[in-house]
Amino acid sequence: MINKNNWIDISVPLQKGMVVSRSDIKFHIERRCFIEKGDVTNNSNIHMSVHTGTHIDAPRHHFVDGKSIDQIPFDVVIGPARVIEIHDEAAIKIEELEQQSITKGERILFKTKNSQRCWQKNTFSPDYVYITQEAARYLADAEVKLIGIDYLSVGSRAETAKTLPETHKILLSAEVWLLEGLNLAGVAPGNYNFICLPIRLMQADGSPARAVLQLV
Ligand SMILES: [Zn+2]
Repeated sequence: MINKNNWIDISVPLQKGMVVSRSDIKFHIERRCFIEKGDVTNNSNIHMSVHTGTHIDAPRHHFVDGKSIDQIPFDVVIGPARVIEIHDEAAIKIEELEQQSITKGERILFKTKNSQRCWQKNTFSPDYVYITQEAARYLADAEVKLIGIDYLSVGSRAETAKTLPETHKILLSAEVWLLEGLNLAGVAPGNYNFICLPIRLMQADGSPARAVLQLV
């Protein structure tokens, strides 16, 4: 969705029935006050995992003493970002990254086949494009600030199933913050202004976030 100031919303809608990771609870929103029924206000409750939809993983997600989401530097989530298109239909591998001249401090958002393929379905897509462990090491060594991906995890389904989330650990231990659950279907590769603020959930391992890009 593009508005008048060329801001593009790359977050996914939070709504009943939305796809979540298999380990997470379903997203739930419920109105408890209704003006039309005589209440003074409309008021709703939500019940969800902090890893639902577009969200940021903090190092605390995989490390007991890791930084929590309230400790994220604003500099990580506000500034220039580069959308890189990945052509490999299975995974983000070093071979494609090496062609991109990735430099220290960059915010990188990967547009993969996931944006077109996975978000169109009402059920979880286990064959999403993920970041290989080798590519994660490459990105950690490059000292990027933030990595974004267009489905619900940076790591493969097999990693998660074996509870060996190495891709997450490699990146989070290097303090690369992870932005998961983007939809980049309508976004061309290139450079953008980027804002993505997680909410201030104290000591939490992650948080939902609104992510927007502006053409530069
Ligand atoms: Zn997450």
